[in-house]
Amino acid sequence: MIVHRIPMFQDNYSYLIVDEVTQMAAVVDPAEPSAVLRLVADLNVDLVSVLCTHHHWDHAGGNLAIQHEFPQVAIIGGKYDAPRIPGITAALDHGDELSVGRLTGRVLSVPCHTRGHIAYIFEDALFCGDTLFVGGCGRFFEGDATQMYAALHDVLGELKDEVRVFCGHEYTVSNLRFCKLVEPANNAIDEKLSWALQRRQCGEFTVPSTLGEERTYNPFMRTHHPSVQAFAGSSDPVEVLRVLRQRKDEFR
Ligand SMILES: [Zn+2]
Ligand SMILES: [Zn+2]
Repeated sequence: MIVHRIPMFQDNYSYLIVDEVTQMAAVVDPAEPSAVLRLVADLNVDLVSVLCTHHHWDHAGGNLAIQHEFPQVAIIGGKYDAPRIPGITAALDHGDELSVGRLTGRVLSVPCHTRGHIAYIFEDALFCGDTLFVGGCGRFFEGDATQMYAALHDVLGELKDEVRVFCGHEYTVSNLRFCKLVEPANNAIDEKLSWALQRRQCGEFTVPSTLGEERTYNPFMRTHHPSVQAFAGSSDPVEVLRVLRQRKDEFR
């Protein structure tokens, strides 16, 4: 399996997942179709699916253009976002499987940012849209802290440290600045931040990270740690998550 990262708009990421054996491919959130179609043509792969994480236009807005070029393509999305996902052909739910050539992926239901937000996991690669970012998490547009807690700690909590995190946006540097505010004494944040600044200066991506890394510096994944709880003024992990998100919303 090869994962190609395709930057689009200001800070969005789309990903092309290629099965090297069959040369079949799926694309995650191809909101800017021209970049995706160019890569598909360059690589000469067979695009079989569009994997939509959620209904927002900067993720699902390119579906119809992709469908226009590839009328046979499956457009997959979460059951509860389905009415708002253009061109959807298959609405999936937690635990459903899908294949791309010889690769098998699994759907994880992670509602909160949107009601029907889903993530996809293929081998060691997690495509989590706007649920988890490097150093952060998505805004609670259509859900609450209880749901985001379930997403980050119950659903993603079952995944191994080695799993690579392919998220929906390049927000790493500003996220890590917030991490630093929450846990000023956490060295893992300093290391990741100086690395990320260096990468961005060279125009390089900071994705993917790994879940193991996120668990060392991302406060939204660290709601059980005393230093994060002290910042939030609570020892209830769900309340900690709620306070963190609120403080992040106000953070500039
Ligand atoms: Zn979104
Ligand atoms: Zn987004």
